[in-house]
Amino acid sequence: NPSASSHFIKNIVIEDLKSGRVDHVVTRFPPEPNGYLHIGHAKSISINFDVADEFKGRTYLRFDDTNPLKEDVEFVESIKEDVRWLGYEWDGLFFASDYFDEMYDRAVLLIKKGKAYVDDQSAEEIRLTRGTLTEPGKNSPHRDRTVEENLDLFERMRKGEFKEGDKILRAKIDMGSPNMNLRDPALYRISYATHHNTGDKWCIYPMYAFAHPIEDAIEGVTHSICTLEFEDQRPFYDWVVAECEMPHQPRQYEFARLNLTNTVMSKRFLKQLVEENVVDGWDDPRMPTISGMRRKGYTPESIRNFVRETGVTKANSVVDERMLEHFIREDLKLKAPRTMAVLRPLKVVITNYPEDQVEMLDAEINPENPEMGARQIPFSREIYIEQDDFMENPPSKYFRLFPGNEVRLKNAYFIKCNDFIKDADGNITEIHCTYDPETKSGTGFTGRKVKGTIHWVDARHALPAECRLYEPLIMDDAEEEGDSFLDRINPNSLETLHGFVEPNMKEASGNDKFQFFRHGYFNVDPKHSTADHLVYNRVVSLKSSFVI
Ligand code: ATP
Ligand code: MG
Ligand code: MG
Repeated sequence: NPSASSHFIKNIVIEDLKSGRVDHVVTRFPPEPNGYLHIGHAKSISINFDVADEFKGRTYLRFDDTNPLKEDVEFVESIKEDVRWLGYEWDGLFFASDYFDEMYDRAVLLIKKGKAYVDDQSAEEIRLTRGTLTEPGKNSPHRDRTVEENLDLFERMRKGEFKEGDKILRAKIDMGSPNMNLRDPALYRISYATHHNTGDKWCIYPMYAFAHPIEDAIEGVTHSICTLEFEDQRPFYDWVVAECEMPHQPRQYEFARLNLTNTVMSKRFLKQLVEENVVDGWDDPRMPTISGMRRKGYTPESIRNFVRETGVTKANSVVDERMLEHFIREDLKLKAPRTMAVLRPLKVVITNYPEDQVEMLDAEINPENPEMGARQIPFSREIYIEQDDFMENPPSKYFRLFPGNEVRLKNAYFIKCNDFIKDADGNITEIHCTYDPETKSGTGFTGRKVKGTIHWVDARHALPAECRLYEPLIMDDAEEEGDSFLDRINPNSLETLHGFVEPNMKEASGNDKFQFFRHGYFNVDPKHSTADHLVYNRVVSLKSSFVI
């Protein structure tokens, strides 16, 4: 329930409604289509949609597409898919680029009011004359151009008479302002890039800081929610709304962005991982992208519950990734069917079991949720168990299989190890056991007890399966060797195992989720799994020391 938790932005909305500053609520989620959405965006999405929802308002999805060099329709489509998958339905879909005409007109208005001028200085010169936190900047030699001259030059910028970088439109505010963002910030730059929406219509593009408040104002956004790094931009945001004489006045509010341990979240870095083929695309299960998390096996519910639990604050912090894992375990506990899978197989021959016999054993689908019913598992003379469920010379307290010891096979019988075979290199290749028909699971046998229960699959009927186990791709505590975050990449982030699953897995398809007994929750990989080659991604192991 989104309304359950209160936070400072909700309190602001309540105050604004009470004081009459607004009589309804409009929010927006404004991604730049220059990459795929990540878990940090999910937090922004949840705040924007949940706040509006609670006050019966509207939320728009707006693409902040003012930088044609980095943007692409592929990203537009993936963002729409991900927002919907998270469970949110926007009340309007907008593109900042649809407002380019109006933005241009507003810039002309600023020039006419003497509030903007065309500068001929290079980007480097502008940077060098901006001053520092303790020293004021220097006025540009072109700052006092006449309105007519500025109108003419700006028009010619638009017509394509100048080269990139030769001219720029700047706001005329105050080069001595203690707020660096008010030292005549750039409003428009020249760029001969083809835009994914407007094509080659424009060769000048508005700067983000100028465009954003205009977009919010055009759409009637009441609460423009963004992350803390924009706090210093707020005075300029308000300046744009006021000086451009926007009929509607949105207001900006900032919250602390979501950071996760062992996770790099900036799109710039994620893009680098994709482009340098460190990962298998934006949807690699090790990526913190929504599409990567979906492919790994996260559910929309688990992500929504997680980001809500992290709260909305003004203080930057880093959230433990194990908290995210807690929420997927919680979500799948009652939903995911249980099944047995052997990830590192070792063959066991049950020497007293008849050669041609196969029997079907009953097993619950989810003991914590009996409504899910039962399944049947074949059992015969040869089975697979995990390699580490057998030891030739076990330490004390090892209750699994070793020569002379008896264990319970989950859902089946007690078996006792009598012998084993080694190959020339000393590897154990086969275990020989006997079973006791009296001990069949479900018959209520109480004659004697065993301390260990292990899982297994029937060797003749089990299906081969590729199981992928993941560790963080980037480690917080990795030794840094160079300047690049690529130096922090964990070389063991993916372990691929070739094991076996129960035969009823034949019917599983992309994104079906299971609990593999003792191993954790697994998701059928939607990209690589086929009927002939099953592939599973481990979402999360079963246990964690983490407590909320
Ligand atoms: P990145 O720095 O990862 O590239 P961005 O802020 O440039 O992200 P945008 O597409 O501009 O990405 O973001 C859309 C919205 O999502 C913005 O309002 C932004 O503040 C918010 N957002 C981005 N990252 C996070 C985060 N880690 N936590 C919360 N909100 C975020
Ligand atoms: Mg950005
Ligand atoms: Mg809504």
